[in-house]
Amino acid sequence: MSLLLKWWWRYKCDGTGLWKKVIESIHHNERAWAFLPIKASIPGVWNSINKVGKDFEKVNIRVENLFKGVTGNGLHTRFWLDCWLGETPLRYTFPNLFALESNKGCSVAARLSVPGNFQGGGWAWKREPLQVLERDELAACNNLIRTCTLSSARDEWKWLADSSGSFTTASCRDLLAANAAPFYPFKWSSWVPKKVNILAWRAEQDRLSTMEGLIKRNIVQSSPLCSLCGDYPENADHLLIHCYVASNIWQKVAEWCNISPIFAFNFRELLESSNINGLKKSKKKALYAIILTTCWIIWKGRNDKIFRGKKVNYEELLSEIKAQSHLWITNRAKEITKDWGKWRSFDI
Ligand SMILES: [Zn+2]
Repeated sequence: MSLLLKWWWRYKCDGTGLWKKVIESIHHNERAWAFLPIKASIPGVWNSINKVGKDFEKVNIRVENLFKGVTGNGLHTRFWLDCWLGETPLRYTFPNLFALESNKGCSVAARLSVPGNFQGGGWAWKREPLQVLERDELAACNNLIRTCTLSSARDEWKWLADSSGSFTTASCRDLLAANAAPFYPFKWSSWVPKKVNILAWRAEQDRLSTMEGLIKRNIVQSSPLCSLCGDYPENADHLLIHCYVASNIWQKVAEWCNISPIFAFNFRELLESSNINGLKKSKKKALYAIILTTCWIIWKGRNDKIFRGKKVNYEELLSEIKAQSHLWITNRAKEITKDWGKWRSFDI
């Protein structure tokens, strides 16, 4: 599967290869909005390559979201269909607008009409967006793309499952193993952004860029000690669980969520601590998302300390965990209350 997926990467990164032109001429399909051009009726290798996306979906991974476009001139990134701005392709973020788009496969360059000087989008609607939902989406979409500027460079692609940004079959295998095997407690959470999932997944694989990890891989030569406490080597388990900063935060998170104190020996146990008997399903799922968010915020606090010299403030971190998880989860989960007062007492 990893080898098949590599062709997805090649297709995206190999600018003008002949094989790509051949594929496009055979499989060009005006009405399909898939990641790769595909005519399902034509059997063959390309068809198997395309189908590998479905195999990943079975373990809850949407591979197209892991290919992130870094726009240069915007000519080779598709505005609606590729993942280039935010977490998922814009067709999922703004489904009502996408329905009105007259050219679903249009490029980013075609929609950001004046490169480097955004003036409101070169839209081409089937009809004007007039309904309330459409107008709301248009305003949000305009806001989002206002921050984008194009340049003369070629668009590039990043593979998010590897810290190098390039596709590796090893990262792909690990990703599958982590999600397919039942004894791995890491599960992708659809309630938090993928960057948060990826951080936790890397922590579980012991592939986080901690001081100890960087030294092991000969990337830096400096002290391996944790920058928060200065007492122990910094690895994922220490930084996210055992460090006194982390354990203080977990205690506060447990109090907030009305659960018994979180004690974990290693990262896998930490992930499993949302699996509490008697808790209703949506609450378990929210708790799991909160655990992932907490790891994210601790990691951010650690980076702020190292790179900005910012001191750790527990109350500040806890408020950030509450606010950030509320924002992420209520934007993605219909069943969770948007009521901030209730959220603050974890009454959901
Ligand atoms: Zn520490």
